[in-house]
Amino acid sequence: MDNQQHLHAETQAIRIRYAATPAREHSVPLFLTSSFCYPDAETMRAVFADEEEAFIYSRFSNPNVEEFVQRMCALEEAEDGFATASGMSAIFSSIMAFLKQGDHLLASAALFGSTHTLLSKYLPKWGIQCDYFDMRDATEIERLIRPETRMIFLETPSNPGLDVIDIEAVARIAHERNILLNIDNCFATPVLQKPILHGADIVVHSATKWIDGQGRVLGGIVLGKKSLIHEVYLFCRTIGPSLSPFNAWLLSRSLETLYLRMEKHSANALELARRLQQHPVFRQHPENVKYPFLESHPQYAIARKQMSGGGGIVCFELPGGLDQGRRFLDALRMLSLTANLGDTRSIASHPASTTHAKLSEAERLAVGITPGLIRISVGLEHVDDIYADIDQALRQSAS
Ligand SMILES: *Cc1c(COP(=O)(O)O)cnc(C)c1O
Repeated sequence: MDNQQHLHAETQAIRIRYAATPAREHSVPLFLTSSFCYPDAETMRAVFADEEEAFIYSRFSNPNVEEFVQRMCALEEAEDGFATASGMSAIFSSIMAFLKQGDHLLASAALFGSTHTLLSKYLPKWGIQCDYFDMRDATEIERLIRPETRMIFLETPSNPGLDVIDIEAVARIAHERNILLNIDNCFATPVLQKPILHGADIVVHSATKWIDGQGRVLGGIVLGKKSLIHEVYLFCRTIGPSLSPFNAWLLSRSLETLYLRMEKHSANALELARRLQQHPVFRQHPENVKYPFLESHPQYAIARKQMSGGGGIVCFELPGGLDQGRRFLDALRMLSLTANLGDTRSIASHPASTTHAKLSEAERLAVGITPGLIRISVGLEHVDDIYADIDQALRQSAS
């Protein structure tokens, strides 16, 4: 890997690459090989003994995967990382590499649906108990910490409600008690927020979303200090949730445009959120449009402190609840109806009837998912076209 550490992260995301082959290609090739060769028995012994660094087997690593990891490390200012096949396998590995039976995990109440299922259904089966804190009450975390609490896991901004948590404040509480702080940075991406600089020990991503940015492949990554990632590596090379070389190759190309894309997604989203607040449906209650960089957002000050842009997700609450939510989706002409987010194409979804339908009504309300909540993943189309489609669907669904 070329040493590019003196360059800006933005440049490193483009320039870090796995060394060229003898063909001296400019564009990085795809390394479709399960294993790697050694010139002699002694080299092979040294590599297996961890005395010499070299590729062994693609469940452990691969040149394409290594390139993606190094680029992500530069962006997140992390010492090391391990790339996985999906965001969920990154989250699972980042927890299971550290926790054991009898340990306790504390998580933010507003979580991605599958993360919530993992924590509430599977971890207790293996003797790991989880509790959830509401970040709107700063003292609740401290009340819920137990002597066995080993990790705090949180999402900020959260999916889909866009709640923002003060990372530095939680890091202070965690580190006083020797608790690992693990942050899902999917919604912000390292372009807009670098949790490690605010005290996080571990950062996880679903690379499926903004990092790929074009709705093509699944991927994930766990990042952090070398010693912590070594534990994740040992766990993952054993159980095999590794990222495929082809997906890594695509994701590395995606990172070359991540800065550009996130700036445009954020600019489009902020403009859309501002226009929606002026829309007849929301004018009386502009707080029903939610976006971290709107002054009306309850944690606006925290968002401005730890993020350099508000991201690409805008939410709003339709006054007509579940029925209007469904009518709104049916009335859209351009926006896609799909569960994914973080795409060049704008997407609308209705969490109460889809991604969070498995939660009870009470659980949904506890994490801010009201029946009429609509989540827009703002794409790279012209903002006038995005607004026009939402405007006509709002008018149609109101009647
Ligand atoms: C999608 C998502 C995940 C899970 O990622 P996959 O790549 O789908 O496994 C985790 N966290 C958040 C916030 C997400 O949006």
